[in-house]
Amino acid sequence: MMKYMFLKTGLLAGASMISASTISINTNEPAKKNLKQGQKPNIVFIYADDLGYGSLGCYGATKVKTPNIDRMASQGRLFTDAHSSSAICTPSRYSLLTGEYAWRVDNWKPIFCHDPLLIDTTKTTVASLLKQQGYSTACIGKWHLGFGVNTPDWNGELKPGPLELGFDYYYGIPVVSSHPPFVFVENHRVVGLDPADPLVLNQNSNADVKGGKSACALYKPEELGPVLTRKALEWVRKHHDKPFFLYYATPLIHLPITPNPRFKGTSGCGLYGDYIQEFDWIVGQVLSMLDELKLSDNTLVIVTSDNGGVIKDEGETLNAWNAGLRLNGNLLGFKFGAWEGGHRVPFIAHWPGHIPKGSISGQLIGQVDMLATLAALIGQPLPGKDGVDSYNVLPALIGNSNKPIRDHLLSAPGNPQNLAIREGRWLYIDAQGSGGAQNGLKEIAITHKVNSDITPDGKIKPGAPPNQLYDLENDVAETTNVVLHYPEVAQKLKAQLDKKRSSDRTAPKNNKLR
Ligand code: CA
Repeated sequence: MMKYMFLKTGLLAGASMISASTISINTNEPAKKNLKQGQKPNIVFIYADDLGYGSLGCYGATKVKTPNIDRMASQGRLFTDAHSSSAICTPSRYSLLTGEYAWRVDNWKPIFCHDPLLIDTTKTTVASLLKQQGYSTACIGKWHLGFGVNTPDWNGELKPGPLELGFDYYYGIPVVSSHPPFVFVENHRVVGLDPADPLVLNQNSNADVKGGKSACALYKPEELGPVLTRKALEWVRKHHDKPFFLYYATPLIHLPITPNPRFKGTSGCGLYGDYIQEFDWIVGQVLSMLDELKLSDNTLVIVTSDNGGVIKDEGETLNAWNAGLRLNGNLLGFKFGAWEGGHRVPFIAHWPGHIPKGSISGQLIGQVDMLATLAALIGQPLPGKDGVDSYNVLPALIGNSNKPIRDHLLSAPGNPQNLAIREGRWLYIDAQGSGGAQNGLKEIAITHKVNSDITPDGKIKPGAPPNQLYDLENDVAETTNVVLHYPEVAQKLKAQLDKKRSSDRTAPKNNKLR
């Protein structure tokens, strides 16, 4: 009998995340089908925006119903220790596509309407790698990685952009649903723009774009889910005659919370929960189409999020919290910060016949690993200069081994001083607080989560240590900073952190797994 349940039970017990009723651990599942030489499965990567670790049924949420994602988990593999590379949208997306930490290009924050393309077009990306191997490639949804060489030309060609990084097709929202321009972009152009009424940007503001009335009229916040999903489905229907890679980066569930009317009132925690349920519907639409086209058995589908959930001191996120939704489960911290809630995210992989049903993995993996992992999946070596932070975690994704692959992982918050290093059970942060918005302190005041260095009203205690060490195996909720109890561990991790930060690569040079 094969043993598929290789979760680190300490983490699960600490996290109290998994509802036994939604995930069955099937230990009688036959061994995975061997990949045939030259086999090129389709790859669908569905990226949620700001979806926290505790916001799906299969991760323990009770105030929202997410039957499609729960089904995906019960038919595939759910990860309990998967991480976005940053706690913030843009750097996470940079790392996902390039296999490289975004701090290497000094990107720690979101970018906006004035910013050029962040990714060097000579780098191998997940899209260019797959395109070179004969895949059709599309990016649908939120880009948030900039356009142009110096600044985007919103009234002309938005170039370079996704198409110069290996995507055959792009359709989506160019920046983020909270910031203008609120338009759709198709390939290199704003959709529906009247040259007589151009978009006019305020050079001193990221949030002030005027004009472009005809293009802006096409953008309806409550329709983003259905419109972009329709685009994604249409593209797959047209391109499934050869292997395809769909990167569907949905703007859900980022602020503003604008669920489609058909989802309003459907959850147990207000509009925020309704929006999560709409995201689940989106995943269901994609899975149903794959079933209908008889492509499910040859398609790897991954659902994850670019960072953890975020809570504000008013509005829909607070309403959801007050109704009992624990956005990031019992993890400490939120979007923007280096505590676990900022970057430990839902991550579910689905590939019938290749990934054992209902398996749960406690392997430490990062989204930065997708480049090397997908390269390994299709048997294509990466150029040595590219994907310098990307480990091949294919054995964790589709294999049955519990042998740890990553010896460490870095997670970036907004404040560079708080860049966190994870090694085994330990997480080390070389500063106080989360390094996120208000250093994470305001969130503690709102949520009353417990941390030994911080008062319940959100102030660093006098005399708190200057750095932080957490034992995630015994304290995944990061209630207790143990840096003074394990000075040698802290010293070693600080040295490792400094070494990794100054090195040209953190993934093995001769990654034997590749
Ligand atoms: Ca985000």
